[in-house]
Amino acid sequence: MPELPEVETAARQLREWVQGRRVTAARAEKTRVVRGQDPQALASIVGHRLLSIERLGKWMLLSFDRGAGLLSHLGMTGKWLRRSRGEASGPHVRASLEFEGGVLLDYRDPRLFGRLLAGPPEELRRQPALASLGPDPLSGVDARTLTAALSGTRRSIKEALMDQHTLAGLGNIQVSESLFRAQLHPEKSAETLTRVEVERLSRAIEASLRFTLEHERGEEPIDYIEEGGANFFLVYGRAGEPCPTCKTPLERIVQGGRSTFFCPTCQPGPTPRRKKSPAKVPAPAKSRTAKARPAKAKQPAKTKSPAKPKTKATARSFGRGK
Ligand SMILES: [Zn+2]
Repeated sequence: MPELPEVETAARQLREWVQGRRVTAARAEKTRVVRGQDPQALASIVGHRLLSIERLGKWMLLSFDRGAGLLSHLGMTGKWLRRSRGEASGPHVRASLEFEGGVLLDYRDPRLFGRLLAGPPEELRRQPALASLGPDPLSGVDARTLTAALSGTRRSIKEALMDQHTLAGLGNIQVSESLFRAQLHPEKSAETLTRVEVERLSRAIEASLRFTLEHERGEEPIDYIEEGGANFFLVYGRAGEPCPTCKTPLERIVQGGRSTFFCPTCQPGPTPRRKKSPAKVPAPAKSRTAKARPAKAKQPAKTKSPAKPKTKATARSFGRGK
């Protein structure tokens, strides 16, 4: 499912393909993708030159000259594809734009959760989903702003980060990956995070976004992991596989209806039995340094608890608190 890195990659491709070109034709099918608007509304961009493509969280705002605009959300399976005139379009194309020079863009979306909305850019920016977006983490996460956003909520850190008000553009994959990198249990209450933990989380989010963008860089639209694209993620989609750091089998839990993947050893949960000490494993007999992995963020050396079954049981025993 497209999140910040996938939408950023799509925006870069659109800039490369059609920025500066004039639209010569546009059409949309009457599907859920254009809900709330007549498919004919797309005709309002015909004759206008595409000036810029901005990414706003998981949205893209295409601004054309003379006040025309188009807002695009890729939903779960949406994708912009390029083709040349004369080339047949593939299945599930919900809208097509033709640009001068014979370049065509098809918006393909098998599951129809995406969104296309035409209108003046300044009006589109006022859409509630856009107007309420939190800071964009791609240019860097400010730990103080993040602390402020998290301190007021008892939701789990996973759910708080999925909320687009907290930071714009994170989804299931990036949140799982970032919490793993930050060694934070996804069910931890957001407001209990210490300053040091939020700082670690901020760096982890930046690292995960960079890592993903690096892997998705390319000329053509990426295959999402759900449609069989390569899984280069550290923990996402890997339940049962060994943790890349400590080899404990990774686990999957469901939070807010969505899967979260984590390592019960590297991301110890809030233990209900121990009242006082959230402290680490006492007196490590042997400390194992994580093997250096080139593509991965630095993970501090950690001690590994041998009590694997116990850790597993406690991790599972937390209620979802919802
Ligand atoms: Zn681990």
